[in-house]
Amino acid sequence: MNAPMNRRQFFRICAAGLGSSSIAGLGLAPGAALAEVRAFKLARTTETRSICPYCSVSCGVIMYTLGDQAKNVKSRIIHIEGDPDNPVNRGTLCPKGAGLLDFVHSPNRLKYPEVREPGAKEWKRISWDEALTRIAKHMKADRDANFVEKNDKGVTVNRWPTTGVLVSSAATNESGYLWVKMARGLGVVALDTQARI
Ligand code: SF4
Repeated sequence: MNAPMNRRQFFRICAAGLGSSSIAGLGLAPGAALAEVRAFKLARTTETRSICPYCSVSCGVIMYTLGDQAKNVKSRIIHIEGDPDNPVNRGTLCPKGAGLLDFVHSPNRLKYPEVREPGAKEWKRISWDEALTRIAKHMKADRDANFVEKNDKGVTVNRWPTTGVLVSSAATNESGYLWVKMARGLGVVALDTQARI
């Protein structure tokens, strides 16, 4: 047999009944509303396909960005998930790839070229133009100093053995192809890519 209800319990039950009957009376269905939360979160986002930068598996990802790309609006990636259309991972991501959103928004993420001058302790930010110019100058100086036109037997080899090229896993087959063409044209021997998709 149930214990008799005290006054406090009676009021609590009445309040709960009143609340649920009011919601039902207004035609609201909390279950359906809750089921809509995820779709609503991504509804106004822009989808961008990319590749996980971490390892040579090169899983495809979709990044969801909030912001209408107007000049006065700062876009922000709010969600990243595996790309179901990518044949490499078919929508799956390992725990590292699944945490990409934290990587994207990390305050420690390197976003700009930096240089540490010889003898300096600090890294300083430089522009992309300056970075590319410096890289080109270093490459030319190294190639001029170390290029091997002929081997010991007098055979033409046109090798540049002192600089290597490593293409990132974020590079597509097409950009990888262009890198190979450029590097081989310069005589680079040590050439590889992190990704083999
Ligand atoms: S999601 Fe995992 S397995 Fe896939 S590329 Fe990223 S780190 Fe590699």
